[in-house]
Amino acid sequence: MDIALLRELAEVSGPPGAEERVRSVVRTHLARTADRVDDLPMGCVDGVRAAPGDAVGRLMLAAHMDEIGLMITHVDDRGFASFIPLGGWDARTLVGQRILVHGREDLLGVIGTTPVHLLDEVAQGKAPTMQDLTIDLGLAPDRAREMVRKGDVATRVRDLAQIGDLITGKALDDRVGIYVMLQALAAAGPSRMEVHATATAQEEVGLRGARTAAHRIAPDIAVAIDTCPADDGPGTPASGPSTRLGEGVAIRVMDASAIGHRGLVDLLVDLAGARGIPYQLHVSDKGGTDTASLQMAGGGAIAGCISIPTRYVHSSVEACHPTDIDAAVALTAALIEQAHVLLATGI
Ligand SMILES: [Zn+2]
Repeated sequence: MDIALLRELAEVSGPPGAEERVRSVVRTHLARTADRVDDLPMGCVDGVRAAPGDAVGRLMLAAHMDEIGLMITHVDDRGFASFIPLGGWDARTLVGQRILVHGREDLLGVIGTTPVHLLDEVAQGKAPTMQDLTIDLGLAPDRAREMVRKGDVATRVRDLAQIGDLITGKALDDRVGIYVMLQALAAAGPSRMEVHATATAQEEVGLRGARTAAHRIAPDIAVAIDTCPADDGPGTPASGPSTRLGEGVAIRVMDASAIGHRGLVDLLVDLAGARGIPYQLHVSDKGGTDTASLQMAGGGAIAGCISIPTRYVHSSVEACHPTDIDAAVALTAALIEQAHVLLATGI
């Protein structure tokens, strides 16, 4: 595992629609392994590995750069900033967190909460909603309004840290997917296909960037690389339909947004078996990834999803296991080398 690369990817900011900083990091790394790097209008960046002479089609890998974030709606008379969510937040996870507000300059803030001393019994039992929360910038009202405008964005603040066997941090959804895509592109042998490694924008607000990128690239085969919620954390059932940390890369069969192409799922299972890559199947009627947009763009594509099981997704302490990350890299590299067989065998 290249922890330094994952740290660089996970710690940089990139809320939906404001992915500039993470895009710049990703572009630099893509340029090292791709033959060409294209910037696309919605903010996606596409690393292209040129087709060999006997190319049989286009393979598109997609991992999203954006992370859940916040957008400022106003700064009140006490200098506290209100916000709306960019992506799917659980308000409980925001309480007590440091937040980086991208105002006229980067400003650290904190989402404070009413001290327990001041709450009655009813209020103590109630979970806060997004509307209850504000960001305290530690500035006088006039100064806060000068530095932060309506429409500015904000992101979580959290260093990547190894805790026991796990790697934890903010935005592992989906910077770990970007990591897997970059490492697989570097590790893979020759492909019979033109390969596109696309870092997508605005996934967290509705799989938007991937839709436009897939329309433009028109892949024959398209595979999203994203996290999936592991069901082995506190509060999740001891056994369930999802995945566990440390038991390998997850091959998504189905979620609420897409049903993986059966032939592609079978190919991924066969490749994992043949190469000794630990894997598990993700079967769920919840959640979604860029796969849905890739599958239905233009005339459609053979599509599926390679996933990295993750605990505590969409909080500040998302947690992954290195075994699963390495397995995802190996499986994605194997797919780059072998995806063309799907086109030969037909749909
Ligand atoms: Zn994701």
